[in-house]
Formats: sequence, C-alpha cells, structure tokens
Amino acid sequence: MPDSLHELSKLGVHLQPRDGAAFRGIRFVNDGNEANAQFPSAGVPGIGLRRQTLHQHLVERAEAAGVCLRWGSTVQLMEDRRVFVAGKAMAYGWLVGADGMNSRVRRWAGLEIGSTMSRRFGFRRHFHVKPWSDFVEVHWGQSGQAYVTPTGPDEVCVATVARDPHCRLENLLAELPHLQQKLGRVALDTERGALTTTRRLRRVVSGNIALVGDASGSADAITGEGLGLGFRQALMLAECIESNDLARYHREHAKTLQLPQTMARVMLLMDRSPTFRARALGLLASEPALFTRLLGVHLGAESITRFVAAKGLDVARGLIWPAHSNASTLATGS
Ligand SMILES: Cc1cc2nc3c(=O)[nH]c(=O)nc-3n(C[C@H](O)[C@H](O)[C@H](O)COP(=O)(O)OP(=O)(O)OC[C@H]3O[C@@H](n4cnc5c(N)ncnc54)[C@H](O)[C@@H]3O)c2cc1C
Repeated sequence: MPDSLHELSKLGVHLQPRDGAAFRGIRFVNDGNEANAQFPSAGVPGIGLRRQTLHQHLVERAEAAGVCLRWGSTVQLMEDRRVFVAGKAMAYGWLVGADGMNSRVRRWAGLEIGSTMSRRFGFRRHFHVKPWSDFVEVHWGQSGQAYVTPTGPDEVCVATVARDPHCRLENLLAELPHLQQKLGRVALDTERGALTTTRRLRRVVSGNIALVGDASGSADAITGEGLGLGFRQALMLAECIESNDLARYHREHAKTLQLPQTMARVMLLMDRSPTFRARALGLLASEPALFTRLLGVHLGAESITRFVAAKGLDVARGLIWPAHSNASTLATGS
C-alpha cells in the first residue's frame, strides 16, 4: 500500500514498480456489484510484489547498514534471560523480537497477555495470467474474501482469508466462478497458508526486550497493513532505542494499531453480515468520492475523527436507508 511504501523508504528501501506491479486503488466486488476507489495520493501507486523480492531488498539494506545476519544459527533463550546463538553466549544491549505471529521471544519475555479480536486462516497462490486490472480486487464470497494483487506483468497473487480453517483457496474460488474463470488454470506455485489475527498485547516491552511487527500485535490480513505496521514500528523502535526510552515505544506502539484494527473491525463486520456487506458496498458504489475518502483514512491521509465529523451522518443514513443511495449493479472498467 502507498503508506507502507512510504515507511519502507524511510528505512532506506525504495521499491519500484518493476519489482512487481503497480496498482492504483482498491476495488470491492460482491455479488455482481462493484465499487472502486483510487488512492488519494495522486500518482503514488501501491506495489504488489513477491515476498522473496521484498526480503531480498531488506537483506541488502540491512547488510549495507552493517547488520551481521546469522542465517541458520540456532538461538536458545534461557530462563535467566541469557541468550545463546549457535551455542555461544551472546551479550546484548537490546533484544528485539521480530519473529512473527507465534513469537517465541514474546513467550520467553512474558509478554503473551493480550486480547485476540479475530482469528482467520489465509492462503495464497500465484497464477500465470496478465493482470486484468490495475486495482487490487477484493472479492467477497460467502465464506470469506479472495483478493487479487497484480505482482508482475504476467502474474497475479490470489490470497483468500476465511474464518473456517477448512476453507482453502479452491473452496473460496468455487464460490466466485467469475474470478475463477479469469484466473485460468496455470498456477505458478502450490498453496501456502498462515493464521491471521487482530490482536493487541497488554505490553510490548519488558526491560531491554521489545517486540515489533506481527510479534507485537496485528490487524487482519484483509487490511493490507501488516507490513506497513512492522515498518512503522521498526522506525519508532529505532528512535526510542536511540533515546534510551522503551517506555515511549510502548505508548506510541499502541497508537500504530488503532486505525488498522478499527478498519479490520469494519471489514470483519462486512464478512459476518451479508446485509451489512451489501449495504456498505451499495453505498460505496453509489458514492465513489466517499470510498476514495475512506481509503484516504485507511492510509492515514485523513484522520478518522475528521472523516466521521464530515461524513458520519451520511454514512449512517446510507447504511440504514440503502434506498436513499443509488445502490445498483455497476460495471466499471479499469
Ligand atoms: C494470507 C495473508 C496475506 C497477507 N497479505 C498481506 C498484504 O497484502 N500486505 C501486507 O502488508 N500484509 C499482508 N499480510 C500480513 C503480513 O504477512 C504480516 O503482517 C507480515 O508478514 C508480518 O511481518 P513480520 O516480519 O512481523 O512477521 P513474519 O513475516 O511472520 O516474519 C517473522 C520471521 O521470523 C522467523 N522466525 C520465527 N520464529 C523463528 C525462530 N524461532 N528462529 C528463527 N526465525 C524465526 C520466521 O521464519 C519469519 O521469517 C498477509 C498475511 C496473510 C496470512
């Protein structure tokens, strides 16, 4: 997403559309209806790319900054907070747990306490097909969502997210025949999956140990904000370490999750309630400017308070009396 790219550039990694494929907005598709919003930041696109490509850029940047990467080394975390790397004791000034959703560092540092607002199962697969749109398309099915991201000139990535762990990519695509038809049959890899949660921890810091990224809390994958959150937190953590103030990191970290988790709540309500979904999509389809503005809120370009003050009543009206908005089937090309 454009906001994630902005944070990433502050970390010294400047992705280009040739790293994958650029996209200029988001499209929701539900039951034959669709709504589009372009990114408000004129001319600044999002970039869809393979995770390995991003990883390679991050590794090169870390090495250029002088980071010593110890691939394949076993890390032992001892009860007395000592750490062994490949059998040798490792002294540390600060220890950062950036080890994902099931963080071992989090457990070890006693930072597990928190609340999980949602828990869903995500799968992804790449298909050899020319992207038919320069929007990321979110297709809403009965069991969950399938979202399509262009990741190259002849490649798209399809990710599905569902509450039922048994709902795999092929099950969700079977609910979306129009999408299945566009994808064709040439899958470039096998399906891979992971848990995605909306989760908040009571604390993300313990002494000189701090958590970052999914290890420190998360918003459901449908928000597309997971990576951006990690980049934002990494920048903030670096500043707080520099000023020797992890208490500040703890305070500021909570703020990073607020907006993505609010957006996750709305999207999950759309997931659970077909009526709300149809009304919300009808409203966004009939008022593209509203969708664009909402996307701006999602990307942090406008505060949610300002949006609610300006548009809250219209949104409530449009949701309660859908007939007042001209919700209809739209056929919008890209
Ligand atoms: C289906 C799906 C689609 C998604 N789509 C998007 C999207 O489009 N955009 C977006 O921004 N986000 C998306 N996300 C969310 C995004 O993937 C995560 O938010 C992001 O990967 C979190 O990054 P992280 O570095 O904190 O954790 P991770 O990416 O999980 O990385 C943690 C790393 O730590 C390593 N590790 C863990 N334990 C150990 C150990 N004991 N020893 C050594 N290494 C260890 C792991 O191997 C891994 O490399 C999606 C998630 C899912 C499930």
